[in-house]
Amino acid sequence: MIAEPQIKDDFLSFDKNGLYCKYGDFYLDPVAPVKTAVISHAHADHAVNGNHLVDCTPATAEFMQLRYGKKAANTFNLHNYHQPILHGAVTITFFPAGHMLGSAQVLMEHEGVHYLYTGDYKLQPDPTCEPFEWAKADVLITESTFANPAVTHPDPAAEIEKLNGIKINILLGAYGLGKSQRLISLINQYAPQKKILVHFKIAPINAIYEKMGFPPGRYQLYGRKLMNNQEEFVYIVPPFTFDSYIRAKNVKRLFASGWKNLQVNEQDTLFISDHVDWNDILLTVKNTEPRQIWTLHGDGFHLKKQFGGNILVKIL
Ligand SMILES: [Zn+2]
Ligand SMILES: [Zn+2]
Repeated sequence: MIAEPQIKDDFLSFDKNGLYCKYGDFYLDPVAPVKTAVISHAHADHAVNGNHLVDCTPATAEFMQLRYGKKAANTFNLHNYHQPILHGAVTITFFPAGHMLGSAQVLMEHEGVHYLYTGDYKLQPDPTCEPFEWAKADVLITESTFANPAVTHPDPAAEIEKLNGIKINILLGAYGLGKSQRLISLINQYAPQKKILVHFKIAPINAIYEKMGFPPGRYQLYGRKLMNNQEEFVYIVPPFTFDSYIRAKNVKRLFASGWKNLQVNEQDTLFISDHVDWNDILLTVKNTEPRQIWTLHGDGFHLKKQFGGNILVKIL
């Protein structure tokens, strides 16, 4: 039997700037500006400004430039999916993560061992981004935001169909980047009589989706007096605006999220998540066929319990 190439325990390690790979001298989604940053997607907790060099997909660079302007990064090196990039002794390849437009899993190959950093990812279908793609890896470095058997996300279509039963205007809180575009698409498909209005902060993000060939669907820009009429409007607003409408009358407030504690109350819920739930994590492990699982962002406890016998689970 040929011995399998050895996994390096110190392939990734945390320091004050975030998750570092010394074999390629780069950071994955650093939390502070660094010399070389490999950025999985444009959400603010993964993409800080001020890095010297950023490796990312073209869409991620667009969103970072929209948010940060000239301070986004010194240099962007843009890479499409499946195109290898060499950093030191590590070959990096992006695979679609299905989380939002431009989101990437980062496959890193070093001395014959494949390490797959998922970033944030989801398996549920979402026409507003590139669909998740499977990659085989010796080490699966997975986010574990919802890595708990108690968490299963409901069918997003059924969640959106709940809007059809609400006849007054709806104020719909959602993160502006990724979630809002997915909601526009879902409402167009599953509650098509609704008239979608978007907050002015969301419109330029939609414009990037359109430019990149992923139009979210029909919507119009919010105007001041529109919501005075009851016309089955769904006004999509970012979280800070949503919170400022706490006493709004004649409007149903809903917040779209995978988190229970972000829902308005126990009756008014809209569970739409852009992260994998427990079953999807199990499916990812099955298809990735890792020898080891390293967990990030969340709780690796249940994965350890599930796989502890035959796959080494390490909490990073
Ligand atoms: Zn994210
Ligand atoms: Zn995240």
